[in-house]
Amino acid sequence: MSEPIPVEVGLVYEGERVRKQDMQVELGGPSVTEKFEIVRVRKTDEITDGAIEIIGPDITQMTEGNVHPLGILVELAGERVEPDLEGVVERRIHEYCNYIEGFMHLNQRYDIWIRLSKKSYKKGLTSLKIIGHVMHELFKNELPIIEKVQITFITDPLEIKPLYAEALKTYEARDARARGLSDDDVSEFYGCALCQSFAPTHVCVITPQRYANCGAISWFDGRAAAGIDPKGPIYAIAKGECLDKEKGEYSGVNESARQRSMGEVKRVYLYSAFGYPHTSCGCFEGIAFYIPEVDGFGIVLRSFRDLTVNGLAFSTMADSTAGGRQIDGFHGISIEYMRSKKFIDADGGYHRVVWMPHETKDRLKPFIAPDVFPAIATELDVKNIEDLHAFLAGHNHPVTERWRATDAAAGVEAAQQVQVFSGGDIPLTVAGFRIILKNAKITAEKVIIQPIRPHVKPGGEHHDAKKQ
Ligand code: SF4
Repeated sequence: MSEPIPVEVGLVYEGERVRKQDMQVELGGPSVTEKFEIVRVRKTDEITDGAIEIIGPDITQMTEGNVHPLGILVELAGERVEPDLEGVVERRIHEYCNYIEGFMHLNQRYDIWIRLSKKSYKKGLTSLKIIGHVMHELFKNELPIIEKVQITFITDPLEIKPLYAEALKTYEARDARARGLSDDDVSEFYGCALCQSFAPTHVCVITPQRYANCGAISWFDGRAAAGIDPKGPIYAIAKGECLDKEKGEYSGVNESARQRSMGEVKRVYLYSAFGYPHTSCGCFEGIAFYIPEVDGFGIVLRSFRDLTVNGLAFSTMADSTAGGRQIDGFHGISIEYMRSKKFIDADGGYHRVVWMPHETKDRLKPFIAPDVFPAIATELDVKNIEDLHAFLAGHNHPVTERWRATDAAAGVEAAQQVQVFSGGDIPLTVAGFRIILKNAKITAEKVIIQPIRPHVKPGGEHHDAKKQ
């Protein structure tokens, strides 16, 4: 590094977590509404290489343990630097920030969540300018076509507001670009392995109709990235033979996933959440989660803070979804993929979606078939699965046909089988051995849920029921 950096910088720190009790400050994150990171391409004479500016308080002026808003604007220039590269270079902010010891960067775009550890702060990482110097150097070293990089950190909430609104418009314009293209129109898809530091077996397959899970990289972005750095973390995938058009299975994708996941992922269905679903790292914008009681999908975005209809919060289901595993019915997705005609198409698409927060439903209205739109429940309509069942029956949701078909085909036996758990790896410990059920699905003829009540002895003394 040309500037003195008080902490270590390297690949070894990727994947490092900073827990709440160890943080000096938090920047962005779930409790901050307006935050962003964005890369814009400028003309060479519009920016100054190496200029790093902070608008608002720097780290030393922030209260220890508090949460602060943040916007990061990275401006680039270079003869061969095209606006097509903005999305791809922007995703590198995540990677490069995570190289810095004690500096944790999660998510992307309008969802950034950063923590600085007390340990690194005490070592001297006390200014955003130092973060800017590291980013500047890594951008120029790793992507030599970039000739100039200027970085601005904005921590003043009043200054963030207009830039945040502008950033949202830019993201939308980028996303809209790939909407006219179908997967059949192209001979190549793109893969991204940037999140393998967090989920070693995860690879994103980016197609025109299946946007990256993080919502930050389109097929066009993938093409631009693979063009400038073919050996980099974003690479071309030859589609190969189409093995299953409905599910979206391609021989080239299978081969690429097998190689990049070190043999862990052998097949990928691009348009299904069952069988061989696309893996999920941890950066997904939302989750499509299967609700076995109604044979439909719920959808929840990271921004939804309440419990979903199955009684679980986004964060709880994110744990079951993430980690680069293929988990039936728990599917990491981007908002742009939800706008695609191929969105869980093999499973029924929106005709299989039964619940989503009303804000998400309104946002996606133009992309949801009008015949099913009123039959999708939100948190304003139902509070639990029982309510949901009644709502779907009352609105004649298409999944109710599946209920009838299942009853008719499988009769009493199927009706008695209840899927009680579908998850990733379930560890069991028995007599000195640890047994892991990989991608387990558990069914039972009957589920009995009983609270463990404390036993009250005469005289009022309480005992744990297990100890009886
Ligand atoms: S979520 Fe996928 S596309 Fe986005 S950075 Fe991670 S691996 Fe790449």
